[in-house]
Amino acid sequence: MKKDKILVIGACGQIGVELTLALRKMYGDSNVVASDLREEHDLLKGTGPYVSLDVMNKEMLHVLVIRHNITQVYLLAAILSATGEKNPLLAWHINMQSLLNVLDIAKEENLDKIYWPSSIAVFGPNSPAAETPQHTIIEPTTIYGISKFAGERWCEYYNHRFGVDVRSLRYPGLISYKSAPGGGTTDYAIEIFHEAKEHKKYTSFLSENTYLPMMYMPDAIRATIELMEADASKIAVRSAYNLSAMSFSPKEIGAEIKKHIPEFTMAYEPDYRQQIADGWPNSIDDSLARQDWGWKPEYDLARMTEDMLRNI
Ligand code: NAD
Repeated sequence: MKKDKILVIGACGQIGVELTLALRKMYGDSNVVASDLREEHDLLKGTGPYVSLDVMNKEMLHVLVIRHNITQVYLLAAILSATGEKNPLLAWHINMQSLLNVLDIAKEENLDKIYWPSSIAVFGPNSPAAETPQHTIIEPTTIYGISKFAGERWCEYYNHRFGVDVRSLRYPGLISYKSAPGGGTTDYAIEIFHEAKEHKKYTSFLSENTYLPMMYMPDAIRATIELMEADASKIAVRSAYNLSAMSFSPKEIGAEIKKHIPEFTMAYEPDYRQQIADGWPNSIDDSLARQDWGWKPEYDLARMTEDMLRNI
């Protein structure tokens, strides 16, 4: 039997650190190779193999896959929504070419499984904003959303055309305390906890009633692993599954924090990220993920807030 050997690309990012540690627990430390452009993250040090890798260098990636007998790749390297708007051509180039490099090597080397995350950013102002369905109008307006939508099409294409077992989730905004966020529009929902604890006040870059779909990192990690562990016959969606846990506005998360820190106050100074948020859904219908592979979130706003404030 072939042994699972996993490569995580972008392992030092907000998701990568926690996903790498979770995969090492499941598959054994030496069977999960972490890689990134950056220096190894402190939380990864001493927990397993680490290699420096620029995913844009296809040859290097190919050599690494062969040398380590890799069977599964988790591709997390990307330019996120807010950063992407500052240099759209670079974001398009990196987000697309990284995925094409991985998909093509998966095809050539007949790898077992690939994971690549999409995002709620695939939806745009013409998609229904409430309980946005899996299949609906998809007209993203950010370069990040455009690259994620194109990526979804490539994933489905490589699956249908070449039989690559690639799986994907449309993550909502992810909230966590272990590693810093990488320049997304939902980063306010992380900054707010740090500011609340340190300064008892926070100025939000989104307006008070901007509702966005969100998820606590433990749920996102579990969703990713459950999707990847599911029998291939259960994965009917080969583009990317809608995934949901909770939805709240800056005002609501502020009120929840105030229950723990009564002197906490909030102000609002929307910037360019408001426009990005305005084009995104308020909430997501993830019934296909629930139906196909049994997805069920565990954290709501109250439980997440309590956990974040305890751990930061
Ligand atoms: P992040 O920015 O925190 O981490 C990305 C990592 O990729 C960084 O450590 C960076 O150094 C690395 N990287 C960038 N370019 C690279 C390259 N050329 N070669 C190798 N590594 C490179 O991002 P994240 O929040 O962990 O997101 C991971 C994935 O999940 C991305 O595809 C992102 O679009 C998606 N996603 C994230 C969220 C969220 O809220 N965090 C929501 C939806 C989707």
